[in-house]
Amino acid sequence: MKSILMKDISMSESEIKNIVCNTGKQLLKDGLVVRTWGNVSHRLDEDHMVITPSGKLYKQLEADDMVVVHLKTFEAAGTHKPSSEFKMHAGIYLNRKNIHAIIHTHQVNASVVAACRREVPPIFDDQVQLIGPSVRVTEYALSNTKKIVRKVVKALEGRNAALIANHGAVCIGREMEEAYSVALLLEKTCKAFVEGEFLGQVKTINKFQAWVMHNFYLSKYSKEAKK
Ligand SMILES: [Zn+2]
Repeated sequence: MKSILMKDISMSESEIKNIVCNTGKQLLKDGLVVRTWGNVSHRLDEDHMVITPSGKLYKQLEADDMVVVHLKTFEAAGTHKPSSEFKMHAGIYLNRKNIHAIIHTHQVNASVVAACRREVPPIFDDQVQLIGPSVRVTEYALSNTKKIVRKVVKALEGRNAALIANHGAVCIGREMEEAYSVALLLEKTCKAFVEGEFLGQVKTINKFQAWVMHNFYLSKYSKEAKK
């Protein structure tokens, strides 16, 4: 994937709208979403995010279709309605101050694990570095309710991804490129987990070592470390 996304929040609103729009199109190309399902957002400033619109095909998206939404009042500015799952994005930004990008997908292998409501154990070095010591799955709750927002925020604690029971996945990052890498890696990990459980039982990495690797990744690949 083209490096769309390696800047920080000093970007302008139009740059951020481009990033969100291009990420939606890339998700479609990579088969992580279909038609209008899933949604993408980026933090705009302390109080606002830019999010994909509701019900518009990814292939027809243009940057100007993106919607600016206030994180607390949900007031929206744009020619379209925001994606129906905007409350989940807002809840994550309010609770995770260093997170600037969120990708919500219905990607196939993650959805299989979410339907079985299984927590993904630590099975790969790259998984634990980028995502964290496991991938939790929420309990079931209706989409776009306060209850599901609370459950997703809790499942994400100390993690960059979570599975939403009988629904899909949410992947987050300090920038869009990180969130995108998380989404790809989550799909690989869930595929391996499903197939590994058929083959025998997957062997897991020790949870403490997984936690150490995740924290090492977070500090080594922080914005400060890139300077
Ligand atoms: Zn969804």
